Amino acid sequence: MTKSFQDPTVINELKTKIHELSAKIGDRKIRICHVCGTHEYTISHWGIRSLLPKNIEVIAGPGCPVCVCPNEDIEQSIWLAKNGYVLATFGDMSRVPSNQGSLLTARAGGADIRVVYSFLDAIKFANSNPQKRVVFFSIGFETTAPTVAIELLNQRIPTNLFILCANRLVPPAMEILLEQPEIPLDGFIAPGHVSAITGYGIYESISDQHHVPIVVAGFEPADVMFGVLAILQQLAQSRSKTENLYSRVVTREGNRKALAAMSEAYSVVDARWRGIGIIPKSGYDLAEQFSKFNIRLKEELPMSSGEDIPKGCKCAEVMLGKIYPEDCGLFNKKCTPENPIGPCMVGNEGTCSIHAKYGGYLDLEED
Ligand code: SF4
Repeated sequence: MTKSFQDPTVINELKTKIHELSAKIGDRKIRICHVCGTHEYTISHWGIRSLLPKNIEVIAGPGCPVCVCPNEDIEQSIWLAKNGYVLATFGDMSRVPSNQGSLLTARAGGADIRVVYSFLDAIKFANSNPQKRVVFFSIGFETTAPTVAIELLNQRIPTNLFILCANRLVPPAMEILLEQPEIPLDGFIAPGHVSAITGYGIYESISDQHHVPIVVAGFEPADVMFGVLAILQQLAQSRSKTENLYSRVVTREGNRKALAAMSEAYSVVDARWRGIGIIPKSGYDLAEQFSKFNIRLKEELPMSSGEDIPKGCKCAEVMLGKIYPEDCGLFNKKCTPENPIGPCMVGNEGTCSIHAKYGGYLDLEED
């Protein structure tokens, strides 16, 4: 199955169809946005941009959960780690710079930071160390939020484990991107992983209201090419509907069990996205019934000590699809995956990091 989605013959056929349709539509600029680090990986790694007509741009929005985590949340996690808590979080998160350094630099200074692969690891650690007070720094989109929700509902959280909740929701960010007058978008490739949880029905009001085609796509190169083709087909027919091209994983209703757990365990709140600002109803906090696990209610956490984005870093523009990483003066010079200055250069899903490793514009045809 995977092989056919990577088959050069299939991809070449899609390329031909995309070029033919693009020529029929005309030479106008067509901007297609995606909001997923894994899609950006596929696009960069497989050199998809080099296969598209020059007038078709595929730009990356805020699809990296580590990148959008605000400076304030990172500073608060560092404060907790320096004030008697063991801070458990994902590996990428520990490297993200804030105005107070990163969690890793805090660890070098003696703070107890544990890298975990899931919330379940944090539970295990807290159970094995009842004398320690542990905080799980919970980040991620709709894909990671259900694990915490299900453990809360099943009452499997030990009393020495608390949660610093910084989870974000993707659809409100898509709407913010669509409301940017300076970057008009002609279509969206919606994230496959997130959609597996939310269902594709969640995008229908967005495509209707903003008159923009939204296609849910998987992560193989042919998936993305199919996505581009489907958007062009809709544009050619003056349609703007939500379409599911990832039916091998995504349904209209999504994962009902996960959605039910999330709606019980969390409250939807206005939330800050790094470099973008506050997006209404775009984040999760723990629901009132779980307030005893909410570290924000237990401790008076410090406010942010400064700006969200480091001086000279253009992550805000990168995450809003206004520029490519290569347009930042620090890209691959002062800022590299080994020495990241901004959040987009840190994790596997950061646009700058992906472009630094694979080249956002790698031209396969010249290879
Ligand atoms: S290259 Fe580095 S400094 Fe420039 S936008 Fe990306 S993360 Fe920020």
